[in-house]
Amino acid sequence: MLPYKTIGDASAAIGRPLTAAETLWFNYSATKSDYFLYCHNILFLFLVFTLFPLSYILLELFFHKKTHKFKIQPKVNLSFSQTLRCYFDVMRMFFLVVGPLQLLSFPSIKMIGIRTSLPLPSLAEIVAQLVIYFVIEDYTNYWMHRFLHCKWGYEKIHRVHHEYTAPIGFAAPYAHWAEVLILGIPSFLGPAIVPGHMITFWLWIVLRQIEAIETHSGYDLPWNPIKYIPFYGGAEYHDYHHYVGGQSQSNFASVFTYCDYIYETDKGYRYQKRLLKQLKEGAKTSGLQNGGSQNMSTVDLKSD
Ligand SMILES: [Zn+2]
Ligand SMILES: [Zn+2]
Repeated sequence: MLPYKTIGDASAAIGRPLTAAETLWFNYSATKSDYFLYCHNILFLFLVFTLFPLSYILLELFFHKKTHKFKIQPKVNLSFSQTLRCYFDVMRMFFLVVGPLQLLSFPSIKMIGIRTSLPLPSLAEIVAQLVIYFVIEDYTNYWMHRFLHCKWGYEKIHRVHHEYTAPIGFAAPYAHWAEVLILGIPSFLGPAIVPGHMITFWLWIVLRQIEAIETHSGYDLPWNPIKYIPFYGGAEYHDYHHYVGGQSQSNFASVFTYCDYIYETDKGYRYQKRLLKQLKEGAKTSGLQNGGSQNMSTVDLKSD
């Protein structure tokens, strides 16, 4: 809720006329409580968990011929009922854990200093904070994910997320309730260290989940612009982690590739990439190539 009654009061307080975006924010948020604004995340997460994975399902349904070659594990096809069950499982977790967590975590948001006030942050400030959030999340998530692959962590908690050896978008948030809580910490840490505006926080929550859905989509689409971000892992990178499964000691990072490179936990992935390249080149020279794509199921290899 803003401490100004009119736009005139607000511009007098910040010492200049409001920008168009600030006027929009004033009109929307002036009479709404900070708690209500924070809880918008519940609606955003519901829409992201539903619509983004759905776009991949529609891609498969209506553009199957054009996009099938970009499927990372083309031999694996989930039925409609399996896909629906995954979505309902995620929604159950959403209403029992994710939603209540949002409702209850507001005091921590107030404590770290997420603000709803004017002036709004500049675009450069928003982008800089989002980059910092992604870097902090990636590093912290790497170690927590790695911990979840110890015998106890995997058997008690993380095994649920690995039920999908060929992930789909809906399976991105599919996990044990304890994992949902544990991996909420890396997402919270960035805003806690570098607190920003509520709009930046909304964007962070939405973009982080879109990124997770993209890396679980099962598709390595060539026209996807985010895969060209330096050190970005992407769908193929994380798909390998699911493909190998419980024994995986490779590709723990959630967003970028440098942690796995620095701590040498990408050896299995690199080995398989090299092998696939050799096989492809061998097939080319022997004239046996049948137009197949370079993907995980081309060769049944689960070595780390
Ligand atoms: Zn894992
Ligand atoms: Zn995953």
